[in-house]
Parts: sequence; structure tokens; C-alpha cells
Amino acid sequence: MALRFYNTLTQQVEEFTPARDNTVRMYTCGPTVYDFAHIGNFRTFVFVDLLRKCLRANGFKLDHVMNITDVDDKIITNATVAHQSLEEYTATYKQAFLEDCAKLRLERAERLVPATGHIDDMAAAIQRLEASGHAYQTEGSVYFRVATFPQYGKLSHNDFSGIISGARVDSDKYEKDDARDFALWKAPKEGELAWQTAIGPGRPGWHIECSVMAIKYLGETLDIHAGGIDLVFPHHENEIAQSESLTGKPFARFWLHAEFLMVEGEKMSKSLGNFFTLRDIFERGYAPETVRYLLASVPYRKQLNFTFDGLKSAATAIDRLRNFKLRLETDRYAEGVNEKLAGRAEAAERAFRESVNDDLNTAEALAAVFEYVRDANTAMDAGEFRAGNVAEALAFLREFDSIFDVLEPTAQTNAILDSEVESLIAERTAAKKAKNFARADQIREQLLEQGIILEDTKSGVRWKRK
Ligand code: AMP
Ligand code: ZN
Repeated sequence: MALRFYNTLTQQVEEFTPARDNTVRMYTCGPTVYDFAHIGNFRTFVFVDLLRKCLRANGFKLDHVMNITDVDDKIITNATVAHQSLEEYTATYKQAFLEDCAKLRLERAERLVPATGHIDDMAAAIQRLEASGHAYQTEGSVYFRVATFPQYGKLSHNDFSGIISGARVDSDKYEKDDARDFALWKAPKEGELAWQTAIGPGRPGWHIECSVMAIKYLGETLDIHAGGIDLVFPHHENEIAQSESLTGKPFARFWLHAEFLMVEGEKMSKSLGNFFTLRDIFERGYAPETVRYLLASVPYRKQLNFTFDGLKSAATAIDRLRNFKLRLETDRYAEGVNEKLAGRAEAAERAFRESVNDDLNTAEALAAVFEYVRDANTAMDAGEFRAGNVAEALAFLREFDSIFDVLEPTAQTNAILDSEVESLIAERTAAKKAKNFARADQIREQLLEQGIILEDTKSGVRWKRK
């Protein structure tokens, strides 16, 4: 079955193929690196990872750009409070984000691009928008004039006709002509950080960075633009207005948006304080793949309510699949093929693929996997599973894992620290001196269990890791 996605722009499920040379040109909005990302953010990034894997499973190549927003008002405030330069401040959270992505097994976009690396490109685009009458300056800042883009609202399906234009309002702390107009460029206030550019000193607004970097790397029309549902308006609406005013071409063919991760009926967010970072979750003893499974298990267009019970169920589900795999790999089965099951594996694999291709319906895809696993386990219990069924079952699990990527356990990193080894060695030396050999031996054993080998030499104890 053909690959289909729900397109926010048309409000319909549409068949997807890339426009040119079998390569999907995709842009997804990345993190604002002013703090650790929370697992709500990661719901969207896990969705993007599933999307990548699904596109590749359909035989398409990927050219995917993700931005890192490393300049915005919040970042500037936080960096100032921390007495750090913008680069120092954002480097910490960019690094943390990349580490978290690696833990969650998220593939890197082909290009990960920082906003601050493209300031001159943005200034040039703003200049062109001014020259074509789509933008105007007020007190050194530049605004997009929404009245010049009649299709404004076509993505969010908002009707803006009721909003009175022309009224001078001071929202966003900057002067603009129309309530809908938005900042492309912000003039620096006294002592504020600024780039010197062709359009004067200042810093870019958030929306322009995505338009400029997307067009620069992927061309005037993207195959897919994706992000969280909260970005539909105003961010993506504004991206469309800027980009299409610049190029006169449709900015993106498909717009995909992931619904929220919720906590007790509210969006998980920094401002509500109801968030968990990945680090919080790991500290409670959950493995990264458990979080990945939970975030992937609910189709991306449905809200997902986060609970620790949900995480526990995710861990149980992964265990069930791992146990099944272990059983396939280690149990011995009678020769031959169980024909009934052979058909089931094929049907289940087909159902799995079709569900993934059906706008990433991960819940149905998982149902296909678990139904098959249940039937296969029942056959194993009844002694009816056959050696000839093993390969296809393992192949199905591989197919499952090429999308979900949860079967391989994350290596435990709670290795004993050097300082802990040293202090145990000191305790052992003291125990020996006090002729408490039982304790000394116990410490040697304990260290050995943790992969530490002791060697008693004339000059003292030496140790190494196995
Ligand atoms: P930010 O770092 O704030 O720019 O957000 C990064 C991404 O996370 C954006 O695509 C947001 O739409 C998305 N996001 C933020 N909160 C949530 C949430 N509770 N559930 C799902 N996605 C979210
Ligand atoms: Zn964006």
C-alpha cells in the first residue's frame, strides 16, 4: 500500500512521494537550546525519527535539515543571568540535546544547522522582502507586512478577516503597524547583543531562520516540513508567508505536525512546570528505549498522556518482545515448518508495514506484532513451533526494530568510578593490616565482580579494569 500522510495544509490524508529524484527534502524545526529539552519535546523528535525510518523503508533517500535555534530572547536573558557568552551558554544545551538524541537512538538529520551561522543569509532575505514591499522598518526593527500576503492563514485555517489592520499596537515589545505583523529583525536595545549586518545592527526573529535555512539547503519547495502542533500558528504560518513572498513558489508540499505529550490534561511544558527531562526519567531507573517505545507507541496525531504506569507498560512490552526473540534464538525446535504460523508471520508483517505507511499508525503496527508474538508463543508452549518458522519470525522482529529500534538493550553505564575503586582498595589494605582477611577477600571479590582486577605488588596494590 502506498505511503500516506495527513497534510495539515490540505487537511487530508494524501499519498506521498518526493517530487524529485527519489529524495525526500525535509525540514523539521529543532530545539531552542536555552535549557534541557523535556520529554514533550522528544515526543516530536521521536516522531521525526519514525518518519525518517518510514521514508527510508519505502525506498526513498533523505535530505533532512534540522535547525538549532541558538539565538532568541530567552537565550539572551538566560546567558546574561549566567554571565556567559551566547556561544558558551548554548554550547552546553546543544551538547545535552545531542546526547539525549543519541540515548533515544534518534538519527541525526543530514544537516544540523545553527541559526547563528546564517545571520547574513537572513539579513539578505529580509532586505529582499523590504525591497518587494513585504516588509517595513520601524525604529531599526523590521516587520513582515501580513496584509501583503492574502493567503495568510491557509495552514492554520484561521480566518483573520476579523482582525482590524492598521491599528498601531505594541505587542512583542516592538512597534508594528498591524497586530498580525511579526518581527523579522529586532533592533538592539541599549547594551543588547547585536550582529552588524547589511540591514544594520540587530538579531533575527525566530521565523525567518527556518525559511532561510530551509530554502538555502533544500530549495524553494520542500517535500515535507514537520514539527510540533504548537508550531502551526504562528511559526509555520509565518514561515509560509516569508518563504512564498520570497520565491513565489509553494514552500512545502506536505506539512506534518505531532500532537502534544500531556500531563494530567495539560501540555507538558517548561512554563507550566509539569515537565520531565530525559535525565529525570533515567534517574528513576528507566532505560532510554523504554521512553522511546512509549513516545512511539501512540500515533503522532493523537495526544499522549504521560504517566509512570505508561512507562512501566512500555518496559513490559519491550521485555515481552526481547523474551520472544531470546526464545527464538536459544530454544530448540523440531525440524519442518508449521504452515499455519508461516502464513501468520507473513500476514502480520504485511499488516505492520501497511499500518506504518498509513500515516505512521504505530498503535496498529504494534498490535500486528503482539498478535503474532502471542500466537507464536502459544505454538511454542504447545510444542508446535518448528525450526522452519524461526527465520521468518526473526525477520519480522528485525523489520519491527528497523522502525521502533528498542530491542537492543542500552549498555549499562553505571560502571564503578576510579575514586570508588581507590577507596575500596584503601579499606582492603586497612582490613589486611587489622588481620581481617575475610573482609579483605570480600572486597577483592566485590571489585572483581565489577570488572576490577587487583594485583598486590611490593610497592602497593595496582588495579586495572578487565
Ligand atoms: P522548542 O525547543 O521549544 O523550540 O520545541 C522543540 C519542539 O518540541 C517543537 O517542535 C515543539 O512543537 C515541540 N514540543 C514542545 N512541547 C511539546 C509537547 N508537550 N508535546 C510534543 N511536542 C512538544
Ligand atoms: Zn521552524
